[in-house]
Amino acid sequence: MVHCPDVEWALLRQITVIYDKITMSIQKIYQYPDPVLRKETERVATFDESLARLVEDMAETMYDAPGVGLAAPQIGQSIKLIVVDTHGDSEGERRFMPLVNPEIVAHEGTQFDEEGCLSVPDLTASVKRHKRITVAFQDLQGQTHELSTEDRFAVVLQHEIDHLNGILFIDHLSPLKRSLYKKKVKKWMVET
Ligand SMILES: [Zn+2]
Repeated sequence: MVHCPDVEWALLRQITVIYDKITMSIQKIYQYPDPVLRKETERVATFDESLARLVEDMAETMYDAPGVGLAAPQIGQSIKLIVVDTHGDSEGERRFMPLVNPEIVAHEGTQFDEEGCLSVPDLTASVKRHKRITVAFQDLQGQTHELSTEDRFAVVLQHEIDHLNGILFIDHLSPLKRSLYKKKVKKWMVET
């Protein structure tokens, strides 16, 4: 799934965390139209034990769902933090990568790929994204890195970074598709 030049694999190996189920706890995933998904997020300024614990809980929640990425607003935390699965980097072992304060600093080309979201149940749709991106971010120690990637992994990163700006993948769909989904959600809410 992950496709990066050789030099970036070294970075991925350095930053990825091996999934260790014992220490983690599953969090509630907020779903559309919960307002927390639209809230402005704050930059992470403290790189401590509680940040590391939050990242582990996010990974546990992501794998339990299951998903390939999760942004902090999806568990009700309005901060600039995402985790993404990087299992393509290893043999059988589950590995994920936390990106703190991630920002797309360069992009190139376009691609269309099918997306879904743990916060937008029962919908997948083709979304237009950048083909190749460079993301600047900090690791759990606060050190700054840049990662360039393309294809599916670039899609996952763009999707998760969107969450930090209150944007959901349905915002990229045509107004017609979006309103059909909104109607469906309204119907569910009346029924439950
Ligand atoms: Zn999502």
